[in-house]
Parts: sequence; C-alpha cells; structure tokens
Amino acid sequence: MNQAKMVQMLGFLAEWALKFRLPVRGIIRATVFQEFCGGESLQKSLPKIAELQRSGVGSILDYSVEGLNSEELMDETLVELQDALTFTANHPETPLFVFKVTGLVHSDLLEASAKNALFDPKQIEAFHRGKGRVMNLLRRASDLQCPIMIDAEESWLQDPIDQIAMEATVEFNRSKAIVIQTLQMYRHDRLEYLDQCLKHAQEEGYVPGFKVVRGAYMEKERKRAGLLGYLDPIQPDKEATDRDTHRAIEILLQHPNAFLCLGTHNRSTCVWATVLMERFSLAKISDRILFAQLLGMSDSLSAELADAGYRVAKYLPYGPVDKVLPYLLRRARENSSAAGELSREYALLLAEQRQRRQEAA
Ligand SMILES: Cc1cc2nc3c(=O)[nH]c(=O)nc-3n(C[C@H](O)[C@H](O)[C@H](O)COP(=O)(O)OP(=O)(O)OC[C@H]3O[C@@H](n4cnc5c(N)ncnc54)[C@H](O)[C@@H]3O)c2cc1C
Repeated sequence: MNQAKMVQMLGFLAEWALKFRLPVRGIIRATVFQEFCGGESLQKSLPKIAELQRSGVGSILDYSVEGLNSEELMDETLVELQDALTFTANHPETPLFVFKVTGLVHSDLLEASAKNALFDPKQIEAFHRGKGRVMNLLRRASDLQCPIMIDAEESWLQDPIDQIAMEATVEFNRSKAIVIQTLQMYRHDRLEYLDQCLKHAQEEGYVPGFKVVRGAYMEKERKRAGLLGYLDPIQPDKEATDRDTHRAIEILLQHPNAFLCLGTHNRSTCVWATVLMERFSLAKISDRILFAQLLGMSDSLSAELADAGYRVAKYLPYGPVDKVLPYLLRRARENSSAAGELSREYALLLAEQRQRRQEAA
C-alpha cells in the first residue's frame, strides 16, 4: 500500500471485478478486508473485539455500508444498526456506537436539504422518512443510555446532518452526552461552529459531545469548490488544520462537562491532548474522554495509549465484502498517499521485519 499507483490500479480493478461478478471476493477478503475490517457480520467480528480487548483497546462497531440508494436497503441498514447498537449497550468492550447518516438518508436528499431545494412532495416525504430512521436510532441510543457518534461527511451534505444532531442533542443529552457530533477541523468554519454549539448547550442546559477529527474528503472538497466556483471550505494549509484541531481539543478539555472523542492517527496530537489532560487535572480513564483510531491504522499508537493507561478504542468496520469496498478503497488510498504519521507506521513495520529476520538468522 505504500505504492500509490498500484493502489489506484488495484482499486479500480476491484470495483470493476465486483461489478461484473468476477470471483475476487476471496482475494479482497484475504488482503485489505482482513487488515481493515472486523468481519462480514457482527457475529464474525467478535474474535477481533476480544483480541483488541486483551490489549486494553475497545471497539467501536462501524457498519460500513455506504452510498445506499433504495428505501429497502436503508430500512435493512437501520435494522443492522439497531442490533449493533443493542450489542454495544450490553458490552463494556464497545464503549460507544457510530453511524453514517448517508446509510439512512439518500445523499441527494441531504444535498437538496442543505441548499433549501427540497420542493417535490415525494422528495420531502422521502427526506422525512430518512430523518425518521435517524431519529429512531438516536432515540433507541437514548433509551439504552448508550453514546452514539454521528460521522461527519462532505460539506455539501453536512448542514442537515448537523441540524438533526442538534435537535437530537437537545432532546437526548439532558444528563449525559448520548448524541455526539463530529467536527472536521480541516474546515475553516468549525471553531466558530463549536463556539455556537457550546453556547447553545449552555442556554438549553444539555451536555455537549463531539468527536474531533481533521477530515477525510479534502481533495474532493477542493475539487468541487473549484469546479462550482464557491469558497473552498477547507483550511489554506495543514498548519491551519493542525492549529484548529489543537484549539478544539483544548476548548473541549477545558469545558466543565463536554464529551470528547479524539479521532486521529497523529501521535503529536494525542501527546498534546495528554499534556492538556494533565495540565487540567483530568483523569486518564473517564467517561468524558476517548482516543480513537481506525482498525489497521496506527495500531502502535493505540497500543501505546492503552499501555499508558488512557481510554482508547478502534473503529471496527464490518459488513459484506462488496458493500464495504468504498470504505476499503478510501483506507487504501489514504494509506498510500499519506505522509508523516503513516510513513512512521510503515517505518516501524520495516524495522520489526528486519528485527525478526535477524532473530531468525
Ligand atoms: C476514529 C476516527 C474517526 C473518524 N471519523 C471521521 C468522520 O466522521 N468524518 C471524516 O471526515 N473523517 C473522519 N476520520 C478521518 C479523519 O478525518 C482523517 O482523515 C484521518 O484521521 C487523517 O487525519 P489524522 O489526524 O489522523 O492525521 P494527519 O496526518 O495529522 O492529518 C491528515 C489530515 O490533515 C488534513 N490536511 C492534510 N493536508 C492538508 C492541507 N494541505 N490543508 C488543510 N488540511 C490538510 C486532512 O484532513 C488530512 O486528512 C476519522 C478518523 C478516525 C481515526
């Protein structure tokens, strides 16, 4: 995966092969799927959850089916999410749950809603059905008192996702953070948005909860803004993203009761958060703070955090091979193009390999 061109070519071939029903599932299952996913179903992911738990690392079940376009499939997704949420609520090794709104509401409807362009009564009805599915899941999380994170998506879909999250937090976060929104700090408007949310929480008297990430769709965002000629929502450079990420962490750690899930593979950012926790006298293990990484990425960092006594969990994506392919391709591309922390991970793997060869010789 360190070869960007190879990843691009194999990704294209995999999509093409699955579309024409060529027998490649086995190859995908034995390679990228095994690396980045827990299993093809919740039951098949149980051994991975147990393995992580043995190293002091929790799991966040992530049913990684994306880009659905039929009501029937979205209804099926809701059932799968409800089951996984119930499992999460009943197992201490799964500290909280996560889902993507685009698994329950068609992205075209979210985009139209974001532009205030939902005019057709059929579209309006379909949007409300989708929103009903989301609220159904969030209400169940509240009934089970199980925290649930809403992933952030592309900026042109995000406003209605934020609005739904806000409505739900007011209703369900009365005594603890049940509904947790995601802030993508590569967007230059997110610190201001965080400020508004915290003021709103104070006025309405609920507990705010946020997952802080840098953001996954930078190239797509920049390309679309360039093509359609609107202001690029992304920060001018990586330094600005890093600065706002660190500021958001500081604001949330200083807050009297906000929940923070820090989703990053960046070691320096995790170190920064631990330094602040010490400065603000916050306990390493608390219901208020969780470090999180994706399965198969920065595993050494997750282990290091767990060994140092912090609460840490891995996103554990699962689902049928062909349905999780978009997720897998994103991970493969991210690994091939990323510099910095992931190169560090690759260097660690090479060093380990060298050491094992020397030991075997
Ligand atoms: C547990 C977890 C949950 C996640 N959930 C989400 C989610 O809900 N939504 C989502 O969008 N992403 C999500 N991500 C992915 C995340 O947003 C990042 O894409 C990924 O983690 C890489 O960022 P980093 O902080 O780990 O690493 P780093 O290597 O420090 O940062 C890389 C990131 O910095 C930003 N960046 C890089 N170059 C520039 C530049 N020139 N200008 C401005 N910014 C730049 C980009 O966001 C890039 O992804 C999640 C990640 C984790 C670990």
